[in-house]
Parts: sequence; C-alpha cells; structure tokens
Amino acid sequence: MAKTQTPQAVRGTQDIFGDAQERFQHVVETFENLRRLYGFKGVQMPVFEPTAVFARSLGETTDVVSKEMYSFEDRGGDSLTLRPEFTAGISRAFLTNGWQQHAPMKLSAHGPLFRYERPQKGRYRQFHQLDAEIIGAGEAAADVELLCFADQLLSELGIAEGVTLQLNTLGDAESRDAWRDALVDHFQAHRADLSPDSQDRLSRNPLRILDSKEKQDRPIADSAPDIDAYLSSEAQEFFAEVTEGLDACNVAWTRNSRLVRGLDYYRHTAFEFVTDQLGAQGTVLAGGRYDGLIESLGGSATPAVGWAAGIERLGMLLEEAPEQAIEVAILPQGDSAIKAALSAAQQIRHAKFSAEILRSGKFKKRMARANQMGAAAVIIIGEDELATGTVQFKILASGEQLEMDMAAAIEKMWDIRFSADLDSFGADLDELEQQVAQLGDED
Ligand code: ATP
Ligand code: MG
Repeated sequence: MAKTQTPQAVRGTQDIFGDAQERFQHVVETFENLRRLYGFKGVQMPVFEPTAVFARSLGETTDVVSKEMYSFEDRGGDSLTLRPEFTAGISRAFLTNGWQQHAPMKLSAHGPLFRYERPQKGRYRQFHQLDAEIIGAGEAAADVELLCFADQLLSELGIAEGVTLQLNTLGDAESRDAWRDALVDHFQAHRADLSPDSQDRLSRNPLRILDSKEKQDRPIADSAPDIDAYLSSEAQEFFAEVTEGLDACNVAWTRNSRLVRGLDYYRHTAFEFVTDQLGAQGTVLAGGRYDGLIESLGGSATPAVGWAAGIERLGMLLEEAPEQAIEVAILPQGDSAIKAALSAAQQIRHAKFSAEILRSGKFKKRMARANQMGAAAVIIIGEDELATGTVQFKILASGEQLEMDMAAAIEKMWDIRFSADLDSFGADLDELEQQVAQLGDED
C-alpha cells in the first residue's frame, strides 16, 4: 500500500507554541488590562462577513480588497470573506445592532485575520491583531485618547524604545481631493519610471503610490508634494488639536507628511508606530480616523477613529519571552505519595498559587527542574510525612527546610509572595520618586 502523505500546514499559517506563545499571550494580556483602564468594552466578531462589508468600506482598488482577500462562495451561493481586518466588521455590527444609541462607543477586540500575502518574517496569511475603536466621536480628543492607549501599550510591553509614532493628517474630503489632483500631476510627469503596479494605481487610486513598497517607486513617492499646501483651515485646526493633545499627554510623535494608510476610508488623522527592527515589516501598530466608513456601509454619517496592532510583530519585539514561573513544585517520593501530592497541589491552587507535580526521575534531577521552572518553594512528601500528615517545605532562595502541615505551607507561600510584592513596590516607589524629582527639575 502506498504510504499516506503527511498533511502540511497551509502556507503562511503558524502553529504558535512555546516561546512564541508566551510572547503572544503576554501581548494579549497587557492589551486586555490596559483597555479596561481606558474604558474599552471587549467584543467578539464573526471571523467571516459578507464580502461586500470589506469591498465597500476598504475600497475596491486597495491592495487588501483587490489582491489579499480570502473570498469564497458558501454552499448557499453567498459570497463570504474571511475578515482581513476588524474595523469594517465592527462598523457593520454597529449598524446591525443599532449601537447608534450608545455612541460614542469604545470597543476593543483581538483575534485572527486572513490576507493572501507573500509570507515572510512578520507577514503571514493568518495573523492576529489587537484592535481598538471609538465609534461616534468626532472630536480630536478621541484621537488623542486612542494614541495615548497605543503609546502606553508599547511602553508597558517594554518596546517603546526604537519605535516612533509617525503622524499625518489626510485632511477632510475637500483637502484630500485637492491634494490628490496635485499628486496625479506629479506622478503623471514620472509615469514611465513607476512600477507597473503603481502605473495602474495612478488611474485607480493615486494616493496608494505613496504607500508603495517597490524600490523604483520610492524616489518618485518621496519627492511628491505633501498635503500641507492643500489643507483647509478646519483640517489644520483639527490636526493642531491632535498634536497639542499629544504634547499635553507627553506622547512623542513625528510628522510624516507622506504617510497614507493602505485603505480608502481614512480622513484627518492617520498614524503608524514604526520600528527599525523588523525590516519591511516595521509597522507594528497603525490606524486613523475613518469618518466616511459607516456611511459607505449605508449608515448615517458617523465619525470614528481606531487602530490595530499585529500581535506577532509586537511579540517579536519583546526583549525576552516573559517566563511563566511555577511557584510551588511538589516532589512525591514513591507511588504511595502520589495521592497526597495531588491533594497538596489542589490545596495550593485553590489558594491561588501555581503548582506542578514532578513525579518521575531522580530526586536531584527533579530539584534541578524545580529551580529551572522558577519555583519559590518545593514540597517533598515521603513515607515519614505520609505517616504524620505533614510535608517538607523547602524555600529555594534560602535553602531553609521545615516540616509542617499544608495549612502552614500555604501561609509560608503568602509570606514569600508578600515580601516579593514589597520588593517590587519598593522598586516602583524609587521610580516614582525619580519621576517626581524630574518634574521638579522641569519647573
Ligand atoms: P503592511 O504595510 O505591513 O502591509 P498594513 O498597512 O497592511 O501593514 P494594517 O492593515 O494597518 O497593516 O494592519 C495593522 C497591523 O497589523 C500592521 O501594522 C501589522 O502590525 C499587522 N499586520 C498587517 N498585515 C499583517 C500580516 N500579513 N502578517 C502579520 N501582521 C500583519
Ligand atoms: Mg498590508
């Protein structure tokens, strides 16, 4: 019989485990904690939507819609698309569920997205994003709050260094149209030197050329006129409010007057947090204001602003995978101690400490393994302890070992955690004092 071929994973998908999973999890948990501080409500959105949801809002001529979507006909003959981004689906949900009455709404989501792209480091066909949106808020303060959230996320992940916030305004419809005409003139003059893709964009979607990743397009894109000369006074004022708000919140930014986002729906504020560490995949978090999107889906004019960040890219930037230490390792001596070990583990976990039973292997090896796992304490249960209903409780940092019952062992664990918390509280206090001293210097 012919040997059955082992199935392969789909190109551009990843099995995320081990170190990469620790990073992934840490990014998501940090985001989840922060979005609560900022008052964002979590939502779960369908992974697929009617194709029109994306085609209409992102724009037919964008790369995502024209080249990257996973679209298919289902058994009922409807055209569906695996979501390539969150914003359009959340906007659709806003209309479907009549959320207008709750506006402004601060919503957050995270999960998998699908784009048919050329896979490479930091670019996959199934990838994952964090997403934050404020729908129904037209004021610049909403843009500022979202950017503060993004900025704090990067600094809490410890990756703010080397990442810059590039900020631009695309103006209102009037400014954008005037700028567009000027860009068309400029690109027409250099038409022959543009890549075939960009020659095509010139008639369909000229702003996109500014965003081109083709080498031969860069000099032409870089010498294109920027939007400033075409901004209406309203648009200028709005942008000034955003930048002044960021300054008031100590969020560093730089102006990139040629930054356009890859999708059609952006108005006014557009931004990207860019690192120099991931090559062509340097954008880790990006977004902007999308006041026209909900109208394009058939709703009434609804201002909105949001951002999305690639979880894999953020994870790759983390200094090291955050280690998930096991707090207590339990070493039963022989099979007769297994039941007592299970019971001990259960009591420890109910007291909200993590525990792992290390049942096989030489005692020395198991102690080494406990150390490796970052355990603060080891509980040893042998014949003697079984007879007396006690355990040996060994604190790894000091080597101190005592015989006690489980209630006392758990109390010991509280002591250990309390003094660790005190230490980190002390470190925080030091930092706080330094910050206060610095503030004093600035006066
Ligand atoms: P790029 O310019 O890198 O193609 P984009 O403009 O298409 O990014 P957005 O649609 O704004 O990206 O998505 C927001 C973020 O999602 C990106 O900044 C990036 O971190 C992440 N991202 C986008 N596409 C991918 C992908 N194919 N694989 C991994 N992460 C991605
Ligand atoms: Mg892209």
